[in-house]
Amino acid sequence: MTQQITLALSKGRIFDETLPLLAAAGIEVLEDPEKSRKLILPTSRPEVRVVLVRATDVPTYVQYGGADIGVAGKDSLIEHGGQGLFRPLDLGIAKCRVSVAVRADFDYAQAVRQGARLKVATKYTSIARDFFATKGVHVDMIKLYGSMELAPLTGLADAIVDLVSTGNTLKANHLVEVEQIMDISSHLVVNQAALKLKQAPLKRIIDAFASAVPQD
Ligand code: AMP
Repeated sequence: MTQQITLALSKGRIFDETLPLLAAAGIEVLEDPEKSRKLILPTSRPEVRVVLVRATDVPTYVQYGGADIGVAGKDSLIEHGGQGLFRPLDLGIAKCRVSVAVRADFDYAQAVRQGARLKVATKYTSIARDFFATKGVHVDMIKLYGSMELAPLTGLADAIVDLVSTGNTLKANHLVEVEQIMDISSHLVVNQAALKLKQAPLKRIIDAFASAVPQD
């Protein structure tokens, strides 16, 4: 009996940059998620389907077996905690960094030097908390789910912790990057039970991805 494989992806950069890796594994996604409202997409391989979930939900889907395998940013994996996940491969895709940014007229270096308490708005509370704790900076963390750039502009926060790629979003909102916390790329994650129960088909996908991963 052929075993069904469910792959969790998020729309956007991760989906787009995973397509060539899927092609290397002989898998073609048969619908464009930007044109379809479907959340389950068929592929050219009847036993493989793609489920579309929020980027931050990919680790949770794979952890609990809602998907056997998924592609998740390192940011989402750290915030999730990684429980129940096997992480065989850094795919080197959807690269960006997690950074601290402030309004151009905010003297971040001086605030840190003076031991000021910083109001930090972010979706990435674990990453931000660890970073500022290591630095010895006291912070009031404000959890947001999007449009982090607005927080310093409206006085909600002194600083944000967000993903930065080209820096254009920061620039357009008169924010400056003052710290780079870590480099981010997307990783392949696999449900630990599925890895045993569906070893052969999952190994084929993992091996095909491994040989297709872009080299630096
Ligand atoms: P940029 O203007 O190129 O610096 O991109 C920054 C915006 O895109 C921010 O809103 C980020 O949250 C988002 N972003 C950048 N890179 C990624 C990524 N790899 N995955 C998800 N969102 C990203």
